Amino acid sequence: MAKRDYYEILGVSKNATKDEIKKAYRKLSKQYHPDINKAPDAAEKFKEIKEAYEVLSDDEKRARYDQFGHVDPNETFGGGFQGGFDFGGFSGFGGFEDIFETFFGAGPRRRASGPRRRASGPRKGADLEYMMTLTFEEAAFGKETEIEVPREEECDTCRGSGAKPGTSPQSCPHCHGSGQVTSEQATPFGRIVNRRTCPVCAGTGRYIPEKCPTCGGTGRVKRRKKIHVKIPAGVDDGQQLRVAGQGEPGINGGPPGDLYIVFHVEPHEFFKRDGDDIYCEVPLSFAQAALGDEMEVPTLHGPVKLKIPAGTQTGTRFRLKGKGVPNVRGYGQGDQHVIVRVVTPTRLTEKQKQLLREFDRLGGETMHDGPHTRFFEKVKKAFKGEA
Ligand SMILES: [Zn+2]
Ligand SMILES: [Zn+2]
Repeated sequence: MAKRDYYEILGVSKNATKDEIKKAYRKLSKQYHPDINKAPDAAEKFKEIKEAYEVLSDDEKRARYDQFGHVDPNETFGGGFQGGFDFGGFSGFGGFEDIFETFFGAGPRRRASGPRRRASGPRKGADLEYMMTLTFEEAAFGKETEIEVPREEECDTCRGSGAKPGTSPQSCPHCHGSGQVTSEQATPFGRIVNRRTCPVCAGTGRYIPEKCPTCGGTGRVKRRKKIHVKIPAGVDDGQQLRVAGQGEPGINGGPPGDLYIVFHVEPHEFFKRDGDDIYCEVPLSFAQAALGDEMEVPTLHGPVKLKIPAGTQTGTRFRLKGKGVPNVRGYGQGDQHVIVRVVTPTRLTEKQKQLLREFDRLGGETMHDGPHTRFFEKVKKAFKGEA
């Protein structure tokens, strides 16, 4: 056991005066005097108090103690705070990790390292993630499919016990099956109880004399498990579906984890999606836009007739109600938006060129009075103003 700091024993500061030390000693020695105090550890406390006082009340001894501490450096562990704990039985980094567990409890880092250092109570199994790629149409309409998920399962040979068939796991002799070991220390301020994970069984509370040959004593095997899943209509890129209870099995009788299917939806060459709505662009000839037309537009639900009114400008948007994607939560259905693009012809025959020149000559007046004229007038003025 580590020797405690003399100042701490007397409950005084490092700068305490001789008077303060004397007062503290008188008070404590009265309190712990074996003739008065009948507690089983009173005599030992009294001895400790007396020793501390003998050193701190002597100027020379106190100066040496301040500089070097207790004579045997192995008995001291930095003094003060840490001195109150029992570090027996630890060595190297394992001991260091256990200090963190004792002081701060289990953090996320520990969760990642698995059940090795946890207490022996029931615990939920790990959640699993599975990436699934869907086509645009599959995401819109949903599908039923079977997936193969690699995961840990209970070993069939030993039924999860980790022991060779015919043998059985036994209670850990070091911690008597509790998975934790406790050390206790008496101090003038009361008992300090330090509880930590059993270093022999790593907190499982079990000891396996003969290990299962299939799983090597872990009680688990890696396996590819086939799972039937129903993807609802309307899922979108990046969304995830929780399949309850299909993660890894629970630990010590805990519930299994969940499986999360994360969707990646492939882009479509013609459609774009925004929420439940679908967008697409449709090319229009100049004549169709000017004269109006009725055309067939593809949708996820089959071709739909769309009436283009005469005089339609490029960029005009038409809405096909209810031709989008069903809402994944069942709140109705999105729309399809058709944006028309008037395409300027690039390869004209001589005859077409003639007709267009004729058209321009005939329609010139109306064209030049329209919004285009006003636009070009503005541009002219702007350049003049700049010059
Ligand atoms: Zn096994
Ligand atoms: Zn143990």
